[in-house]
Amino acid sequence: MRVARTIAATRGLVRRGGQPVVLVPTMGALHEGHAALIRRARRLAGPQGTVVVSVFVNPTQFGPKEDFSRYPRPIRADLKVCRENGADLVFRPEPTEMYAVDASARVDETSLSAHLCGASRPGHFGGVGTVVAKLFLIVQPQIAVFGEKDWQQLAIIRRLVRDLNFPVRIVGHPTVREADGLARSSRNAYLTPEERAVAPGIYAALTRAAAEPTAGRILRSAGRALAALPGARVDYVRLVDAETLEPATRLRRRTTLAAAVFLGRARLIDNVQIPPRA
Ligand code: AMP
Repeated sequence: MRVARTIAATRGLVRRGGQPVVLVPTMGALHEGHAALIRRARRLAGPQGTVVVSVFVNPTQFGPKEDFSRYPRPIRADLKVCRENGADLVFRPEPTEMYAVDASARVDETSLSAHLCGASRPGHFGGVGTVVAKLFLIVQPQIAVFGEKDWQQLAIIRRLVRDLNFPVRIVGHPTVREADGLARSSRNAYLTPEERAVAPGIYAALTRAAAEPTAGRILRSAGRALAALPGARVDYVRLVDAETLEPATRLRRRTTLAAAVFLGRARLIDNVQIPPRA
């Protein structure tokens, strides 16, 4: 496995590697969710292809009061996860390698980004869209793998690819969870033992609510159960169309029940997919 810190080195190594090129963008602090994405990328690439993992805590997707500076950066452990799960190349640039000091061009999706996390984190998805577009242009993958845990991010990236004609196939990978249901997340490391004990209640609330018979009852059930979690502050809980992310009042199309919850210093997100019902 090679490690590149510059765009030029990454381009050179990718050019000399086999096809297809499969990219897994991450912010590091890699856990079993990321590992599953890398293994999926390895399968998609086959023995001849090139699996590229980017490890970059992207400053432009963090708000001024968010956790950019304290986001964990355990690079040795991250490289081990990449190596053991089949990566060929890790691209880990410094922010100065990715952004000119006077960088002034951005990639903004303007419809799906208005909802859910986009409403509570202004500018976040502009940062995500910009860095993902840059990674697509640097690595030029045929395939890129993203987690369904960040459902809105996945929907926005599919939209960017459609609307800007990026020649890349987007593969979504199911959410990897702890045994008790908690979605794996780098931010779970912020939880105290007490908060960690409460955290599985988020997924439990969503799955239990999803079994209710109507859109209204699903949303009320999820809202009540999340509000009852000790020490939790609900940022949002919404039932939305799985593709457009517009609020859903019926279950005729596939819907997503999504929530963001503050538990201590951590802001945790999760979602469940609800198939269409007649
Ligand atoms: P992050 O490092 O948090 O930016 O995540 C990098 C990629 O890993 C994104 O595509 C995430 O959706 C995905 N990911 C993070 N956590 C999980 C998880 N628990 N299961 C599946 N994918 C995940």
